[in-house]
Amino acid sequence: MIQTCDAIIIGGGPAGAMAALQLAGLGWGVVLVEQGKRHRDKACGCCLNSQAISILHDAGFEHELHRIACGETRRIRLHAGADANAVFSLGEHRDGKAGLVVPRYRLDQMLLDRVKEQGVEVLQPGRAKVMSIARHEAQVEINTNDQSQLYRTTLLVGADGLRSRVARVAGLQGTRRPSRNIGISFNLTLGSCDLDRHAVEMFISRHGYLGVVSQGEGTWHFGALVRSSGRDSRNGLKSLLVDVSQTYPSLGACRLDQYVPKDLPGIQGAGLMPCRPRSIANERVALVGDAAGYVDPFTGDGIRCALQGGLLLGDSVKGQRPGHWTMKQGTHYRSSWKREIRSGLRVCSILAFTLRYPALWRFMMKRTDRERHPFQGLFERVIAT
Ligand SMILES: Cc1cc2nc3c(=O)[nH]c(=O)nc-3n(C[C@H](O)[C@H](O)[C@H](O)COP(=O)(O)OP(=O)(O)OC[C@H]3O[C@@H](n4cnc5c(N)ncnc54)[C@H](O)[C@@H]3O)c2cc1C
Repeated sequence: MIQTCDAIIIGGGPAGAMAALQLAGLGWGVVLVEQGKRHRDKACGCCLNSQAISILHDAGFEHELHRIACGETRRIRLHAGADANAVFSLGEHRDGKAGLVVPRYRLDQMLLDRVKEQGVEVLQPGRAKVMSIARHEAQVEINTNDQSQLYRTTLLVGADGLRSRVARVAGLQGTRRPSRNIGISFNLTLGSCDLDRHAVEMFISRHGYLGVVSQGEGTWHFGALVRSSGRDSRNGLKSLLVDVSQTYPSLGACRLDQYVPKDLPGIQGAGLMPCRPRSIANERVALVGDAAGYVDPFTGDGIRCALQGGLLLGDSVKGQRPGHWTMKQGTHYRSSWKREIRSGLRVCSILAFTLRYPALWRFMMKRTDRERHPFQGLFERVIAT
C-alpha cells in the first residue's frame, strides 16, 4: 500500500535535519530517510563557525553542542610556503567562542535524534529512490532492512548532498561539466607536533589544500580539497600529501608522505566540487544544503549554509496549511536562498579561485609589511564574520 505524507526529506545531514525540524514544527507530517547507519561519519573539516553556532543555539542545541564539541578554534593560520603565513582571527559568537570542532558523526546524530523527538518518521538506515515527480505529487520508494515501501508527497526535499540525485531526477542539475576536485578527511594521533591547538591550520599546495584542527587528546583532524585532473583521484591525494610534507616543516611529525592514501585512518571522501544546480526549487521539489550548491571546503561555511537552508525552507511555508507547496512557495524559497546564501557563495568562489595560485598568496604575504593583509577584506566577508 502506498503511504502519504506532507514532505519527504532525502538525506539526514545538517540541511535535511534542520529542514525536518522546521517543517515538523509547523505541523507537517515529515518522513526523513538517511542511508548511513547511526553515527555515520562524513568527509568534513568538522569546524563550526560562529554563525553555525548561533543557528544551533537558537534552535535549542546550546548545551548538547558544547557537550559533543572536542575543540575550539580562534584563528586561521594560512600557510602558502615554508616561511609565508598569515593569521586571521575568527569572528566571535555572542558566548565568546569563535569556532568549535565537532566530529560529524556526533553532530549529525545529535540533530537526527532531535528530529525523531519532534515526531518525524526517521528511516535510518534507509535508501530512497525517486520513482516519479509529477505536477501534483512525487513518489519515492524507500528501502529499509530489505523492506520496500512506496510514499507519495507534495514536497520532496533533496538534502542528499553533493551530486544530488534528487536534483538530477527533478531536472534541476547544473549544465556545467563538474570539476574533478574531491574532498577528503581523516584523523591522526600524534605524540607532539608544531601545530596550534586553537587554530585552523591551512596549508596551500598546487595539488589542493589541507586543513588541520585539534580534536583534543593528541588527535588531529585533517580535511583536504584534492585537485585531481585525471580519473584516479588517489594520485592527486598522494601528490598533495607528498607536497605539503616536503613544503611545511610544521607537518613533519605527521609523516603524511609515508601513507598509502587508502590506509589513512578514518578516511572519508566527498565530491565532486563545485556543485551548482540550475535552480534550487520548483513546484514539487526543493534542494537544501550542498544539494543546492557548494563551492569548496576552504571557507568552512558549509554547515552554516546547510542549517540556514533548512531554516529558509521552513520560512517559505509559514502560514500555509501542512503539505501546501506550490510554485509560489518555491519562488519564495529561491529568492530568500539567493539573498541569504548565494551572495556568500560568490565571494567563496573568488577566494577558492585564488587558492589555485599559492605563489600569488606567497607574493602577497611577503610583500605586505602592514598589519592588515591584502586579502583580509575577502577573509572577513567569508570566514571571519
Ligand atoms: C573535505 C571537506 C571539508 C569540509 N569542512 C567543513 C568545515 O570544516 N566546516 C563546514 O561548515 N563545512 C565543511 N564542509 C562542508 C560540509 O561538510 C557540507 O557543506 C555539509 O555536510 C552539507 O550538509 P548537507 O546536509 O547538505 O549534506 P551531507 O552532510 O552531505 O548529507 C547528505 C546526506 O544524504 C544522504 N543521502 C544521499 N543520498 C541518499 C539516498 N538516496 N537515500 C538516503 N540518504 C541519502 C547521505 O548519506 C548523507 O548523509 C567540508 C566539506 C568537505 C568535503
